[in-house]
Amino acid sequence: KVEDKENKKQREILRSPIVCILGHVDTGKTTLLDKLRGTNVQGGEAGGITQQIGATYFPSQNIAVEIEKCNQHYPAELKAPGLLVIDTPGHESFSNLRTRGSSLCDFAILVIDLMHGLEQQTLESLNLLKMRKTPFVIALNKIDRTYDWKTEEFASSYISFKNQSKENKNDFNHRYNQIITQLAENSFNAALYWDNPDPKTYFPIVPTSGVTGEGIPDLLSVVIKYTSMYMKSRMVVKQDAFNCTVMEVKKIDGLGVTIDAILVDGTIRQDDKIVLLGFNGPIKTKIRALLTPYPMKEIRVKAEYEHHNFIHASMGIKISAPDLEEAVAGSQLYLANTNDEEQTAIDLVMSDYNQVKKKVKLV
Ligand code: GDP
Repeated sequence: KVEDKENKKQREILRSPIVCILGHVDTGKTTLLDKLRGTNVQGGEAGGITQQIGATYFPSQNIAVEIEKCNQHYPAELKAPGLLVIDTPGHESFSNLRTRGSSLCDFAILVIDLMHGLEQQTLESLNLLKMRKTPFVIALNKIDRTYDWKTEEFASSYISFKNQSKENKNDFNHRYNQIITQLAENSFNAALYWDNPDPKTYFPIVPTSGVTGEGIPDLLSVVIKYTSMYMKSRMVVKQDAFNCTVMEVKKIDGLGVTIDAILVDGTIRQDDKIVLLGFNGPIKTKIRALLTPYPMKEIRVKAEYEHHNFIHASMGIKISAPDLEEAVAGSQLYLANTNDEEQTAIDLVMSDYNQVKKKVKLV
């Protein structure tokens, strides 16, 4: 019955956009992420947030509650099943988040501290995003620290601004204009998302507070609007597409050695045969269990993971299978259900291996 349902939906399955967070240390990346999770856990019942494997999955039902707050001035609609937010702040991690050849992130949130402006790692992140051609939104964080800020928890920051004093507006505008100038000096045009003269050439800015939750509805709305604008053809899970990156290799009590992976595109099934890179050559194995953690509010001591017959992209997943001890984090995982697939997969793994070897020699 489950399979029937799956086949019916196959033609119209949409991938959840993969969103990364980056920026200078102490700008509030972790606080914002925590707030994002917190809001949504309170916000909706159905689905529930899954605290994943270096990634948090936000189902669309939960997001809908938040973006509703921006409906009047900035309507956005999420067509995909959800958003997968990659939880590895730090730009080294961002540069490592690659699939074959390109970045794993469809979109990025660059966090800038309104009080500090552009800092060293902000500039590095900007360059990295430019190099990777990753579209992004700027979260201008810590608005609650502007002069005489009046808080309305979890409100849209567009609406919060309307309730601020003239003095507050002067303080914000002064800081904001300085940052716009700094960005322009580095050849980036940016503007407040609700006042953007040209969304194609100006990066959107969303004022946020990780402490009060203000601006979170706006941040989600902008991410959704821009990912649907930029992803278009990459939104649909194509039947023959498959793209999966191993993030970590971990021993888990009761499961043995498992791998945590990001399924970037395609569908993975519980009885799939897979090939991936091992320290001593390609590993061929068969999935024993296909898992994701339970939603956060259901944290249990023993039954920590939910079992699945199949999972569609994008999703952070855990795979339990024999012979994973030698698996290499950062490598690609391929399907190998037929002999042809297996041979292609082994060739691809070997070419990945040779590339890694070349890089290591260069260093
Ligand atoms: P990260 O290094 O970018 O992950 O930054 P953190 O999330 O650890 O935040 C660094 C510090 O800034 C912590 O003390 C946070 O409580 C504080 N912080 C983060 N966001 C905000 C904010 O919006 N307003 C204020 N006032 N403080 C914040």
